[in-house]
Amino acid sequence: MNLQDFWNETLSQLKADMDEGEFSFVFSSLQFESSAGSRITLSVPSAFFREQLKGKYLGILEEKLLELTGQKIEFAFSLRKPETPPKAEVSSQPESRTDSQKPLKPAARRAHVQLNPDYTLENYIVGKNNEFAYSCAVSISKDPGNAYNPFFLYGGVGLGKTHLIQALGNAIHRNNEKSVVMYLPAESFVNEFLSSLQNKTQSAFKNKYRNVDVLLIDDIHDLQNKKDTQEELFNTFNALYEAKKQLVFTSDRPPQELKAFAERLLSRLTRGIIADLQLPTWETRLVILRTKMASKGMRLSDAVLELVARNVSTNIRDLEAALNKIWAYGELLNREITIEVAQEQLKSVFAGPSQQNIAIDLVQRVVAESHNLGVQDLKGKKRTQAITLPRQIAMYLIRELTEYSTTEVGMEFGGRDHTTVMHAVQKIEDKVRTEPSFEIKIQNLIRTVRDRAGS
Ligand code: ADP
Ligand code: MG
Repeated sequence: MNLQDFWNETLSQLKADMDEGEFSFVFSSLQFESSAGSRITLSVPSAFFREQLKGKYLGILEEKLLELTGQKIEFAFSLRKPETPPKAEVSSQPESRTDSQKPLKPAARRAHVQLNPDYTLENYIVGKNNEFAYSCAVSISKDPGNAYNPFFLYGGVGLGKTHLIQALGNAIHRNNEKSVVMYLPAESFVNEFLSSLQNKTQSAFKNKYRNVDVLLIDDIHDLQNKKDTQEELFNTFNALYEAKKQLVFTSDRPPQELKAFAERLLSRLTRGIIADLQLPTWETRLVILRTKMASKGMRLSDAVLELVARNVSTNIRDLEAALNKIWAYGELLNREITIEVAQEQLKSVFAGPSQQNIAIDLVQRVVAESHNLGVQDLKGKKRTQAITLPRQIAMYLIRELTEYSTTEVGMEFGGRDHTTVMHAVQKIEDKVRTEPSFEIKIQNLIRTVRDRAGS
């Protein structure tokens, strides 16, 4: 039995019973994917949405379907990639053409797959804080390999490095389908390099990276202390540079602050043009908020936007998060978002001193105390559950609240590898997403850390 008709009927009955705003908020983002036996698979935009749906609406849906089909229907959920409007479809077409013409160049497909279609130069908002970096990117996109090479872009967390480097990749890819654009975080470069050593596939690795026209490496600071990988990048750099291929690197700190970095590599990386991203002024923050709001179909008053722009000054990622939080709150509770509501929402998440003031050992102390452990336990070798989870929480919070790289965080936990930190962050992120009570616990820890950092 195909359950699609029953699903449609369920929706039309619910629509009649429910508040119109609520109905369209919940069910317009929910899509019927398929059915098999007595199971329906729905696609949802986010894990958060899925949890809200399960908590609030699943019972009603099951009830209605039982009534209509006479069977107990089960649900499965699949996560959609965030925002795949028609825009994304258009930009994926040239890609499939490239693929069929050039089956021997998997690199092209890979690069495209890794570029977020939402990161474009067109939607990069330009202010005094980033206009130089932006214009470098525009020039390079028009004449890759010649305009400025290499391009070294640096700036703090959430200031738009990844957006800009990917936008540059998207622009080049769009201008010239044949151009092989490769984007990757430096951490992936490390991992691939190491596994090529292990699997004795070094020459495949070398070929892969030396056959590209544009190499974009994000978060180059993650190569600190990675001597062998630095050496490999040095060779890759030279090969590409001599062949006039475009190279772009981003870093969360200026080149002179990169530690444990081979001098000759550093001098290569910075021999082209260097640009930084600064914090946007509050007027630019307001423009960013207005633009994001419009693109996501949100409606918030100017007064609320100004409040957010004035109060969230850390970076653009936080700005977007504040906007999303306020909007989601209004939508879920079906409340109008007044200044007071916005203030309340902002207070709970973004109160506190700026990120720079938070030290690693403060986070370690807060997490250790709240678990009745000592800081030494977090740094030590023991791997019992009672210690491992708090250790992972501490790593996650440090990555959330400070600008330290995974490599540096690892060193502060008894010299652990950065991949251990990445794994910890991933694990906690998943847990936050799936367990509301755990999320609250994390929020409380964040508040405690911020309070203590401020006092
Ligand atoms: P970084 O890599 O520096 O940590 P990201 O590039 O991930 O920062 O940016 C964080 C978020 O802010 C992303 O959603 C990005 O699209 C957005 N963002 C950053 N800078 C801009 C900008 N100038 N215009 C529009 N969105 C921006
Ligand atoms: Mg980034």
